[in-house]
Amino acid sequence: MKDYIVNAITSCGSIRVIAASSTNLCEKAREIHDFSPTCAAAVGRALTAAAMIGSTLKGEEDTLTLQFKGNGPIGRVIAVSDNTATVKGYAGDPYVDLPLKKNGHLDVGGAVGKQGYLSVIRDFGMKEPYVGQVDLVTGEIAEDLTYYYAKSEQLPSAVALGVIVDTDLSVKSAGGFIIQLLPGAMDEDIDRVEKAIAEIGEVPRLIEQGKTPRDIVEMLLDGYEIEFFDEMEPKYECDCSKDRMAKALISLGKDELRQMIEEDGKAEVCCQFCNAKHLFSKEELEELEKSSR
Ligand SMILES: [Zn+2]
Repeated sequence: MKDYIVNAITSCGSIRVIAASSTNLCEKAREIHDFSPTCAAAVGRALTAAAMIGSTLKGEEDTLTLQFKGNGPIGRVIAVSDNTATVKGYAGDPYVDLPLKKNGHLDVGGAVGKQGYLSVIRDFGMKEPYVGQVDLVTGEIAEDLTYYYAKSEQLPSAVALGVIVDTDLSVKSAGGFIIQLLPGAMDEDIDRVEKAIAEIGEVPRLIEQGKTPRDIVEMLLDGYEIEFFDEMEPKYECDCSKDRMAKALISLGKDELRQMIEEDGKAEVCCQFCNAKHLFSKEELEELEKSSR
């Protein structure tokens, strides 16, 4: 089954939902980075959230970055999405693996850490990106995003994210939803939503059972008239290129480049998002040195 994202709003305009199935993109991320199960879950959750939020971006050049920087052994978790829910991401240490928690879940909170911050960076192609930052709550990714929406955007929300890793270490199923109460929501809406969230169960389990993101929206908004929009297939794909890496090298400055030329006579730049290696010869580095300051 293809990965899928759908946005929805109740016809009364009081509740908004985004739901996603993201098994394939999480598995692609795991393959590229050779993630441990704990890291596959941590980055997979972040990528799923980034894809859902990315699906709401309007401009072709807009990007969203989620950065979870905690005091746990994973270091940091980065997930980036564009407006087509094409995502990429990485973990500071991709091999960190912790014992399962008592409830049988992967210990993402233990790997990320409970102290630190979540940064939400929206880049609309203007000079300065818009950055929102909150403290981490649990390091479990979903709770931290829920807290971000409440604190930084004053938008009462519930975020659910899940990645199930199979016994062969591949990603078995993954998905999530974001449900938000808009300003028109009444007490009755709040009660209904809370009840639906309590009853729905874990998203990756629902996806394993063959439920689609549309089904999940319908379960969450049972009894409401629903309008669906912005449906898309999220993907894991890196947009790095030798050109972009050349710009990164230029930004290091003349001294650094001169040192590379003299000491190594070449440079190999590895992309953090896809592990592609971009090679630069001595002549190419000398060209870059000329355009550097
Ligand atoms: Zn790349």
